[in-house]
Amino acid sequence: MSKPPQVTRDVFEEALKHLDDAMEYAGLHPEALERLKHPNAVIQVSIPVRMDSGETKVFTGYRVQHDVTRGPGKGGIRFHPEVDLSEVKALAFWMTCKCAVMNLPYGGAKGGVTVNPKELSRMELERLSRGFIGRIADFIGPDKDVPAPDVYTTPMIMGWMMDEYSKLKGARTPAVITGKPIPLGGSLGRNAATGRGAYHCIKEHELHRGWNPQEVRVAIQGFGNAGQHVAELLDADGYNIVAVSDSQGGIYRKEGFHIPSLIKVKNDSRQLQAVYCDGALCEKVDADQISNEELLELEVDILIPAALGDVITMENADKIRAATIVEVANGPMTNEADKLLTQKGVYIIPDILANAGGVTVSYFEWVQNRAGFYWSEEEVYEKLEKRMHDAFQSVYNLSQEHDVDMRTGAYTLALKRIGEALTAQGTREFFNHNGG
Ligand code: NAD
Repeated sequence: MSKPPQVTRDVFEEALKHLDDAMEYAGLHPEALERLKHPNAVIQVSIPVRMDSGETKVFTGYRVQHDVTRGPGKGGIRFHPEVDLSEVKALAFWMTCKCAVMNLPYGGAKGGVTVNPKELSRMELERLSRGFIGRIADFIGPDKDVPAPDVYTTPMIMGWMMDEYSKLKGARTPAVITGKPIPLGGSLGRNAATGRGAYHCIKEHELHRGWNPQEVRVAIQGFGNAGQHVAELLDADGYNIVAVSDSQGGIYRKEGFHIPSLIKVKNDSRQLQAVYCDGALCEKVDADQISNEELLELEVDILIPAALGDVITMENADKIRAATIVEVANGPMTNEADKLLTQKGVYIIPDILANAGGVTVSYFEWVQNRAGFYWSEEEVYEKLEKRMHDAFQSVYNLSQEHDVDMRTGAYTLALKRIGEALTAQGTREFFNHNGG
């Protein structure tokens, strides 16, 4: 029997639907809305890479600038086998909104290469990274579009990309890309920033909820950069991290895990293991092996999707038992699932707020690169905490004022700010009036 044809969802079109709910409260001019429905610019490139075997393989990459009215485009570069243009456009759109929520002087952009980086050697990865920048060098720049890391791209990759761009332009240009290693112009605190931003959101929410951290159970899907940092901070605060996972599956332990031990072993061995380490000595602890699907359905207080998009859909939304979901991943749930969970009373801290710590410290890195003057980690964290607090409160206040969920509150705030910038360039009413 032949398989039914696969229906591919247009992630960008889906993402735009968030605007509909917020439109009503943001007072956005219809012309501004129309502009946001069309990315400013899209580039697709082919990147030939000499593999270690001697053969040449050609990879496809994308860069999308969604809207640059509030400032240069800003957004990460993702290396993943499922990267496609619609996803990159959706991610660029979210960046426009995220930068506006955080009140950063940026528009939104995103890039990606369709590749499984785990299948490349380190030398192939470097050649691919440099090759991609070679192809998009005229499209990006400190005043045009500033990339950063995303899924499966690291500070070292950002360093290679900055170096390649600088060579091509004949001038060292650290502000072209953020998330670089510290010795190459990175900012202290950037690596931990996304997890730390999510942690501040949870602390703000804790105040409203009146939680005692010791009694709060947390499950985290994805134990990479963002997942590990939020886990570490929550663990240090007394929160009980009962489940974590990576692409291979997850582990669950009712009594909670000792997060520094998990991080140490995961980063040393690339394996997620239920361990407790005393110094260099690590011992296994009792834990259940669970699948990524099971992790999402655990009865916990906080669920943190911190891996990929679209993991909560209508297939599993009614099985979700978490009271609060903190979206560290971009777009971890479909619109329908979001509506169902919101109706059920699940409190969702949306991605464009919850994971905005990363772009905020990327902004700090860009500012430091341009000034040639570098801040202490303490200064970075202090500034980040203030920005997260201000953004959370603004979103919370809007959600209270209009009696809407936090996602609608966040989009309302974003649209207000983007709308002000777009309408400052004039609308039909202005031109008709002057034209007479
Ligand atoms: P990362 O590559 O460091 O980690 C990703 C983690 O997800 C890894 O542990 C990987 O094993 C796991 N994973 C991959 N496929 C999975 C699957 N199918 N099921 C479960 N786990 C899976 O990436 P990151 O930087 O931590 O980013 C994670 C998410 O956070 C992404 O959605 C990214 O867009 C978002 N985000 C990251 C940043 C940042 O600054 N790092 C900023 C904003 C948003």
